[in-house]
Amino acid sequence: MPGLGLYVHIPFCTKKCDYCDFNSCSMDSFDDAREIVDGYLEALLREAEIQSAAARELGAKVVTVYLGGGTPTCLSEESLRLLVTAVLRVFPVAHNAEITVEANPGTVDSRKLGLLRDIGVTRLSIGIQSLDDSLLARLGRAHSASDSIRAFHVAREAGFDNISVDLIYAIPGQIMKDWKETLDGALEFRPEHISTYGLMLEEGTPLWGDVKSGKQAPCDEDLEIDMYYLAKDKLELAGYRHYEISNFALPGYESRHNIVYWRLEPYIGLGAGAHSYVDGERRSNLTDPTDYLRSIKSSGSAVCESEAFSKADEMSTVMILGLRMVAGVSEEEFRLRFGVSMRDAFGTAIEKGLALGLLEWDRERLRLTRRGLMLSNEAMGEFL
Ligand code: SF4
Repeated sequence: MPGLGLYVHIPFCTKKCDYCDFNSCSMDSFDDAREIVDGYLEALLREAEIQSAAARELGAKVVTVYLGGGTPTCLSEESLRLLVTAVLRVFPVAHNAEITVEANPGTVDSRKLGLLRDIGVTRLSIGIQSLDDSLLARLGRAHSASDSIRAFHVAREAGFDNISVDLIYAIPGQIMKDWKETLDGALEFRPEHISTYGLMLEEGTPLWGDVKSGKQAPCDEDLEIDMYYLAKDKLELAGYRHYEISNFALPGYESRHNIVYWRLEPYIGLGAGAHSYVDGERRSNLTDPTDYLRSIKSSGSAVCESEAFSKADEMSTVMILGLRMVAGVSEEEFRLRFGVSMRDAFGTAIEKGLALGLLEWDRERLRLTRRGLMLSNEAMGEFL
């Protein structure tokens, strides 16, 4: 049994961003925010107790913990302490586990970050997104570029030596010069890890509405591709290893938690909308925080969907997720896991990807080509 990943979802944010369709809500949207947050944390702790018993039964150690959201750092110091210490106490956590907390600029200060370090958090992931104030305003972010710079330095002073920053490109109105300046600015901090995401205009979000009504022009597709490759080339030149479609790391600082997902190893998700994958079964929790907390209170579970994976489902998911990693999928590991060769299971999909120049063999590993990285959906669709 490989180690377990553990994800804890905090769905609250100080403000909902204009492009966001994640399972998150603004604290202001509740009349009784304090009560909802306290009730939610209570439910999380109950779910943690129940799920930790299941983890112990499996005999597996938790090797990565990830508090994501939403914005975990919009919780008070007291709530963060209570939550993180309880999770680390009830689960069988490996002594060298990677423990990440997502943070947003404007919700952290030296006391809160010092506390996170003191209670065992090893890694911080900061949502910087852009170092251009007008683009941050277009995204509806609740912080400025100088807040981001301050947050990064405060995190270093608090002792974080493993920091990731998230950046977004293909923002309506963003030109190549803006993107280059954000990349250069981020490189000046020298974070250990950088994630770069092309903005998705999600239907129903305010930014999608602005583009649909013609108030904002969407980013040109060719420009988006050029922005992707600019990030790849610039970050690689600066010593970062491109290890997943959207992720770059200094050697040894790859996100261990996300690698659990990309290898389809077992993980447990706690909280509203969280997913788990244990014993070949994928489960999802209710997404609405109030529904979630009521359900945990009444029955101890908030699972609303579960799906048992057949061997064929598992093989195809291993290919689709595994190809996200730049090193690709090992033929040998695939055969050991499933007792069948990758070429026998997916001969047609592989041949098609090779012929289109989207896939290539690197010794015994099948991986995306440089072109395939940008057209990954096309390549992966063949493995469904
Ligand atoms: S901070 Fe993140 S989760 Fe919260 S609204 Fe903005 S994009 Fe969504």
